[in-house]
Amino acid sequence: SGLSLSMEEAEKVKVVVRCRPISELELSQGHKSTVGSSMEDKSISVTNPQASQEPPRTFFFDAVFPPATDQMTVYNVAARPIVDNVLKGYNGTIFAYGQTGTGKTFTMAGEMEKAESRGIIPNSFAHIFDHIAKCQHDTTFLVRVSYLEIYNEEIRDLLAKEGAGLNLEIKERPDVGVYVRNLSSATVGSASQMQKIMEFGNKNRKVGATNMNIESSRSHAMFTVTIESCKNELVTQGKLQLVDLAGSERQSKTGAQGERLKEAAKINLSLSTLGNVISSLVDGKSTHIPYRNSKLTRLLQDSLGGNSKTVMIANIGPASYNYDETLSTLRYANRAK
Ligand code: ADP
Ligand code: MG
Repeated sequence: SGLSLSMEEAEKVKVVVRCRPISELELSQGHKSTVGSSMEDKSISVTNPQASQEPPRTFFFDAVFPPATDQMTVYNVAARPIVDNVLKGYNGTIFAYGQTGTGKTFTMAGEMEKAESRGIIPNSFAHIFDHIAKCQHDTTFLVRVSYLEIYNEEIRDLLAKEGAGLNLEIKERPDVGVYVRNLSSATVGSASQMQKIMEFGNKNRKVGATNMNIESSRSHAMFTVTIESCKNELVTQGKLQLVDLAGSERQSKTGAQGERLKEAAKINLSLSTLGNVISSLVDGKSTHIPYRNSKLTRLLQDSLGGNSKTVMIANIGPASYNYDETLSTLRYANRAK
């Protein structure tokens, strides 16, 4: 029945929220936190700084990570089940969503200098190669990676040499499904090799400064790991999509004009399409899933829904000046549930 289908799908799409710590700069500027969060209750409460006499609004998610949550806890709760499923031969997708400056890149890539600051992507490399080491006696593995960004609805190959790999086309074939023509991919044999490739790609990411006074990320970055395994002549393949989405802030706040405004409109379109795709998967009743409305969802078509598992990590900032964006992120995430 429709109800049982929707229960099944609901388990396959999880939505979690991570609130970053208030920064030294924000504290020195006198900003206060307007967010309360509880890992145990899986709840987030936000107070309107303009109307602090009003009761806070509370939202519940599949998991909530308060500011003090370390990277490994985020990995174990949000990412490990997805990667385990990929190692079994299914597809999985992990997204970081949220306004610029709330910790999407910290959550997905993290900082490399200290092991405890590493994010989901490098932690997944270690997880994958630990698994391979354990199963090597009876299973052979082939691990391939590719890395692209979608900027202004154009696909760029982040692993291509300078000048190559611009404006790549999406193609579809009955035997392989949806793919990007001429996208480079690399076969990797260790976590540290994967790490170097990720860092190479990160240097090629497109960034542009906006009036928000930070290098703001205007593109979606998609790191894809394909794991093929062969045991007793049985071949399985799982695909892991690790996506650092473009900032979700509304254009009015960033003071964007001209080219920037056009970019913003495309970002809004792809994020709203993603929200629509996920909510129609969760809902389970829709016969038409609007994958084709954006490149992002089209590329993820075989990694969302079906036997795939998805987790959306909504990132928020705790400071009072972020209130409007925080509320809109929580509403987006709540709708995706
Ligand atoms: P985004 O990618 O969403 O624009 P970043 O990941 O670049 O945001 O984070 C903005 C800043 O906040 C960075 O300096 C980052 O190191 C810091 N930061 C984000 N999340 C955390 C966290 N959980 N703990 C400590 N610092 C964080
Ligand atoms: Mg970022």
